[in-house]
This record gives sequence, C-alpha cells and structure tokens, in this order.
Amino acid sequence: MPPSRIPYASGVTSSTFRCGSCDQQHDGPPFAYAVPAPAYWSSDLEQRPGNVLEAEQCKIGDHFFLRARLVLPVLDAEEDFEWGVWISVSAPSYDRIVEMWGNPDRAEEPPYFGWLSNELPLYEPSTLELKTKLHTQPLGIRPLVELEPTDHPLAVEQRTGVTMARVREIAEWHLHL
Ligand SMILES: [Zn+2]
Repeated sequence: MPPSRIPYASGVTSSTFRCGSCDQQHDGPPFAYAVPAPAYWSSDLEQRPGNVLEAEQCKIGDHFFLRARLVLPVLDAEEDFEWGVWISVSAPSYDRIVEMWGNPDRAEEPPYFGWLSNELPLYEPSTLELKTKLHTQPLGIRPLVELEPTDHPLAVEQRTGVTMARVREIAEWHLHL
C-alpha cells in the first residue's frame, strides 16, 4: 500500500508565541496533533467494501489499525506533547482489542505489538513502520504507544524528552506548510 499524505489537525491552545519562521505572534504552540487516518488510507478506499475508517479503529482489507497516543515528555513545561497516530496490529490482536473494548479489565492486558502507520513531519528517517508496543488504557482513554528503544530521533525524543524549542519548531512547521 502506498503511503498518502494527510493534513494535520492541531490541538486547542490558549497562549501565543513568536514564530521563528515569520516573526509574527501565533496561537500556541499546540501540545497535540492528530493524524486523521493511517498513511495507507485514501478516500477512494471508502467506496470499496472491506475498508472502514472510524474515530478509533480502521480496517483496510486485511490490515487493522488503532488510533493511539504517542507521548513525548516536555522537559521545560508542565504538559506532555502528544502525536495522535495510528498503529497497525495483527488480526488476532485487533480481535482481542475489539473484544475487550468495553471491558474495564482491558487496562490489565499485556501490550500488543504494532507498527507505527504514519509519517510524522520533521523526522528523518521516516517514522513509518517503526516498531511499537501498544498499551491499552482504562475505558475512555486511547491506548499509549511505546516505541522500540532504537536510536531513531522519535524514539530518542520519547525516551529523553523534548524542550519547548522543539514544540515551537513543530508548530512553525504546521503553520507554514
Ligand atoms: Zn509564523
């Protein structure tokens, strides 16, 4: 399946910052961005049977995806930064997750193996198909992504944290696409 690029939706914010790109004040920087679909999704898939994109779950043929939160600690802020991403899991994992969806015991499930299924901006090499563990959370809370502890820049950021300078850099990229 070829990856497709999809625009981002940014989180809500109440402050402003001076932009290093255009030198204007902008709202933010936001601490959360959400990718609306797996990289492999495209609108023409919707017309064909067997493909479903919902708020938390996605199915493309024999491939199964879950919406999840990839959290990066922000060392010099009170808040964490969050990439809203999609994780590809195996059919047995997907079946189990769906079976446990409304069960309060789901937070006790062992983590599921999954592949990061989005190409996040500003990372080189690509974040697509990084290995992850998906940790189910209590009811009403999206699962958390734990990246394999490699030296990929995103995995390093998750382990060691980022600074507000990086959060602003991400905001500037989204503002000046
Ligand atoms: Zn700007």
